[in-house]
Amino acid sequence: MELNTIIASLNDAQREAVSAPKNSMLVLAGAGSGKTRVLVHRIAWLIKVEGAFPGNILSVTFTNKAAAEMRGRVELLLGMPTGGMWIGTFHGLTHRFLRRHAAEAKLPGTFQILDSDDQYRLIRRLMKNMGVDEARCPPRQVQWFINEQKDEGLRAANIDAGMDPFRRQLLKVYAEYEATCQRSGLVDFAELLLRSFELLRDNPALLEEYQARFRYILVDEFQDTNAIQYAWLRLLSQGRENMFVVGDDDQSIYGWRGARVENIHSFQKDNPAHKVVRLEQNYRSTGNILGAANSLIANNQGRMGKELWTEDSEGEKISLYNAFNEQDEAHFVVERIRKWSESGNSRKDAAILYRSNAQSRLFEERLMAAAIPYRVYGGQRFFDRAEIKNGLAYLRMIANRNDDTSFERIVNTPTRGIGNRTVDLIRAEAQSASSSLWEAAISIINRKQLPARASNALNAFLALINGLGGESKDKALFEKVRIVVEKSGLIEHYKKEKGEKGEARIENLQELASAAKQFSWEENEEELDELSSFLAHAALEAGEGQADEYDDCVQLMTLHSAKGLEFKLVFVVGLEEGLFPGERSITEPGRLEEERRLCYVGMTRAMEKLYLTYAESRRLYGRETYPKASRFLREIPVEHIEEVRMRATVSRPVSVTSSVSQREAEYQLGQRVKHLKFGEGVVLQQEGEGDSAQIQINFHSVGIKTLVAGYAKLEKL
Ligand code: ATP
Ligand code: MG
Repeated sequence: MELNTIIASLNDAQREAVSAPKNSMLVLAGAGSGKTRVLVHRIAWLIKVEGAFPGNILSVTFTNKAAAEMRGRVELLLGMPTGGMWIGTFHGLTHRFLRRHAAEAKLPGTFQILDSDDQYRLIRRLMKNMGVDEARCPPRQVQWFINEQKDEGLRAANIDAGMDPFRRQLLKVYAEYEATCQRSGLVDFAELLLRSFELLRDNPALLEEYQARFRYILVDEFQDTNAIQYAWLRLLSQGRENMFVVGDDDQSIYGWRGARVENIHSFQKDNPAHKVVRLEQNYRSTGNILGAANSLIANNQGRMGKELWTEDSEGEKISLYNAFNEQDEAHFVVERIRKWSESGNSRKDAAILYRSNAQSRLFEERLMAAAIPYRVYGGQRFFDRAEIKNGLAYLRMIANRNDDTSFERIVNTPTRGIGNRTVDLIRAEAQSASSSLWEAAISIINRKQLPARASNALNAFLALINGLGGESKDKALFEKVRIVVEKSGLIEHYKKEKGEKGEARIENLQELASAAKQFSWEENEEELDELSSFLAHAALEAGEGQADEYDDCVQLMTLHSAKGLEFKLVFVVGLEEGLFPGERSITEPGRLEEERRLCYVGMTRAMEKLYLTYAESRRLYGRETYPKASRFLREIPVEHIEEVRMRATVSRPVSVTSSVSQREAEYQLGQRVKHLKFGEGVVLQQEGEGDSAQIQINFHSVGIKTLVAGYAKLEKL
């Protein structure tokens, strides 16, 4: 009976893949054809039919959300928890592996994860110490370089510097960065993989142990694996032909970060006994959505080629909305979502997908104004907020005194009279003694190298950390967090920050204690104490575990993070040249194709209804732009599209404010006004009411400005 549930709900091609002999397998198929479903059912098949133990299964995907979903689906199908299986993201699983084998990997047991923001700061600080000119060698570029090398499996020592002085500079920083991370017990995201790979490569006994353990290796979204990820998988499966990979070359969207779609070919070469199964029926989207997506992607060259069809009806046409500006776009989208949810749909089935994180803010504001709950994946997330990072830095210092990044972050936060000169001295000492900042601070105090005041201040900091460490020892995790939040002085510090913002920060810090309370440790490995495990969770999940995950709320995320997911109602917004496709991709054919794949990914997330929107003018990164409609829109056959003509109203001077304030709106679209400084202009829109209303005006002389009604002293003409 159980067996039947594994197989019954599959089509023939899917069944073939799920029930194939235990060889290597490549499922190559388009969006929504059931690849992830096949992978999940294969896991169930292996356990129920092939007699695999849960511990024999290693199943990898890319985002935390996708991994959580995979786990959920397997549990549902098997009717048992997935505890013993290694199901997760590349980062999550390699992290687990390194925790178990920290000593063999030459890492301290307390090693901490360096997220990308911390990594950037560390690189910047090192460059400053080394006297590297930031203007000529931007730290972001160095960060990019380092990660790129690691993704290719290269250490600084393996790279030939050549004669190019710039490259030599980059390599010098890379080498210094490696040494510092090693000394402080810090591991960045790329390092998780590289270190895991090296450990297995250089340790045959361990490799054998894991090869024997992971008898079945499954990979979702295989087209987006990079060199080091594939190398790691290959080591584990070496000669065993036990990899089951599913993917779609048309959805390869991480080429810019080192993903190699060629891994699909390498896989076929490395596993000569493999079988290929193609799935062609799409179960996700309506005919119109699928037809449009198929036509769009047909514009790319060199595809592995596949056709998708659906038994579903044509469904509604895709709605195309040409917004007046970015405000109007957000307004339109939110209005549609409101109506949709009012007619009985769940908000969580609606998603707004955008090209860059910066676009989320306007939608957030509109949703908030309309009192519609929403959730943003990525972007400025809970664990990324400054106050949270400060709180976490205290916790990190308690776990590991040699965590230099955290030391830098909190040594004078809140301010405690430790000035730049003192910190410079500590850095210099740390550098010359090759020690951590913490150790350097101690030796400076012991050698009485500081004036009394500075020395006392520094001493007080060291005592504070030691005191917090002592007091929180043996306490439950959330108690530890509470002690740190209360006694670090952070609360007083933010109390001084006037108004909303300070209060929000305090609330966030308090929320940190709740996050710690909700954190379930049982999922983690016994090797890791609860605090370190929580800190790792904060770095890896970065907000994806924030509260309200199960609330019914609208989903906001970048197109990249939407990969693999599906929603009934989807808005792909900002379809403009320069934004999507992005500026830099326009001149490079390879990148342009990747943008097109991204658009394909976005469109194929939609099950029932898809909206595409673009704006005639847009303020982006503080600049006013007048973009052209995206070329991708022209690549979709007209028969699948219907234009929404809400803008018919725009030619007449009517209000474009939200319906609530419509009657009160004092300034109508098209109203001509005069401002003392900017001269004459025309009103584009009004948000809010009365003196605090924000009026957007296109001035003849200076272009578009947003002014507050009470201060602007506008004269109506
Ligand atoms: P993507 O390329 O976007 O990751 P995918 O190929 O992984 O897509 P799935 O997410 O596995 O596709 O499946 C898409 C949708 O179709 C899901 O809702 C899934 O449950 C459904 N589906 C897949 N196969 C079948 C089937 N044989 N019968 C009914 N529904 C199916
Ligand atoms: Mg999938």
